[in-house]
Amino acid sequence: MFADDAAPRAGTAAPRRWLCHCTTPPLLLGTVEGGTVNLKMRDRYYHIEAVQGRISTICPKCGHQHTIDFGTVTSG
Ligand SMILES: [Zn+2]
Repeated sequence: MFADDAAPRAGTAAPRRWLCHCTTPPLLLGTVEGGTVNLKMRDRYYHIEAVQGRISTICPKCGHQHTIDFGTVTSG
């Protein structure tokens, strides 16, 4: 489903994998697609659109905190 090339490409909304590299293969924390974050929690997926600000999570394997910063809200 997801390409191995997770590098973000400017101008595209191709899904980018949000990974923790504490395991092999890396542990998937979620995916980012433009301003949408897709999170899998237990048996369901959450699709959070128009994300602004920061999202943080803690890797369930190693306990490392990961943060994605979408920047601050700008008006106008
Ligand atoms: Zn980890």
